[in-house]
Amino acid sequence: MLDFTEEQKLAQSTIRAWCAQHLEPHVLKLESGEMSVYPVMRELAGTFGIPDMARAAFAKMRERREAAKEERPGTGFKGLGDASLMAILTMELTRCCPGFALAFGATLGLFGGAVMARGTPEQKEKWALPVFTLEKIGAWALTEPGAGSDAFGSMKTVARKDGDGYRISGAKTFITNAPFADCFVVYAKMAGAEASDVRAFIVERTAKGVATSAPFKKMGMHASPTGEVFLDDVRVPADQLLGGEGAKNARDAAKSSLNQERFGMTPMCVGIVDRCLVEAVKYAKTREQWGRPIASFQLVQEKIARIYTARSIMYTLLFRQLEADKTGTPLTAAEASASKLYCARTATECAMEAVQLMGGAGYMTGSVVEMLARDAKLFQIGGGTDEIQILRIAREVLESP
Ligand SMILES: Cc1cc2nc3c(=O)[nH]c(=O)nc-3n(C[C@H](O)[C@H](O)[C@H](O)COP(=O)(O)OP(=O)(O)OC[C@H]3O[C@@H](n4cnc5c(N)ncnc54)[C@H](O)[C@@H]3O)c2cc1C
Repeated sequence: MLDFTEEQKLAQSTIRAWCAQHLEPHVLKLESGEMSVYPVMRELAGTFGIPDMARAAFAKMRERREAAKEERPGTGFKGLGDASLMAILTMELTRCCPGFALAFGATLGLFGGAVMARGTPEQKEKWALPVFTLEKIGAWALTEPGAGSDAFGSMKTVARKDGDGYRISGAKTFITNAPFADCFVVYAKMAGAEASDVRAFIVERTAKGVATSAPFKKMGMHASPTGEVFLDDVRVPADQLLGGEGAKNARDAAKSSLNQERFGMTPMCVGIVDRCLVEAVKYAKTREQWGRPIASFQLVQEKIARIYTARSIMYTLLFRQLEADKTGTPLTAAEASASKLYCARTATECAMEAVQLMGGAGYMTGSVVEMLARDAKLFQIGGGTDEIQILRIAREVLESP
């Protein structure tokens, strides 16, 4: 795959027009917290028929089940439609407001994706469908105050068997959508079992013992609410153990969700760099110093050429990723990490270059590139830090014969 099809390009321009009309005017209010992202998400979903697509996909799944055919496991976004279209949607939302795209991706991609990938048919119907129709908001809770990069080894959240259900105690932090989510996928270690035995549970906000923090104040991604989840001896019925009674260790499931998150970060980084290029070119052509547009200075041209080059490489990585998804031949761990590492670092550098090119105007709050520069930094931390990607790449390269 070397480019989007004409049909996909048409969809892209329709989404871009929607963003310009319905998202862009609210960005400052979404960033300040004066306005919530969720009603805008529901408006977006309604406009593009996402709830209907979800219901149709679930109806097909039911038909297949009833016809006793094998239910194709799918991840959240793929369960709804074409991965390229979802990449386009993510890219376009990010061009306009990365925080909005992050919150949207966490509910559909992380929560919805985890339930679709590992849930029983009943769990998919009960928990994933209302999230795909945007009736409910989901959050995916792995990270803990003492367990970040070493998410499993240092995990303290524990689940104990209690009659025909479980009791969970612990705390999760830095969780996207946590302050407002209706439901959570929570990872916990099984008490008394092997220390490495991790399970995933679906936990409802309304369950006794569940509490969440207020949204954290943070460097960027202001439109995306991030917070803590506290679980104080929360009783969880057996049918909320993700995957049902026979559920296996959820480490692999969590890793596949992290891969999904990394997968979603590539179009987000492309969105950031693409918008930086547009803003940088526009400014360079109109801003005059020494009596001529700054675009005529070679040091300014160098910045534009660098951002353009980064965007070209990122598009290639995105198409490689989409092709791998289409053909069902997943990227190796090293390749996926290399892509995430490159995109995250380069998006941050490009956004900073765009700020530099625009001088004081780029540094002011309210300038798009100022938001993009703050937001891009998250990609070097979330979904596995740069350092963890480097370790994964080196391990695979050094261990290969
Ligand atoms: C805005 C935001 C949203 C998030 N959303 C979610 C979410 O929805 N769900 C969720 O579960 N988590 C979420 N996270 C958490 C995120 O995945 C973690 O922040 C990330 O995995 C890093 O963990 P940490 O912050 O605890 O850093 P740490 O693991 O404490 O790392 C601190 C530093 O040490 C380095 N380091 C650690 N180990 C090594 C090593 N072996 N070698 C070299 N260097 C090392 C790291 O690279 C980093 O530079 C979110 C984070 C942010 C900032």
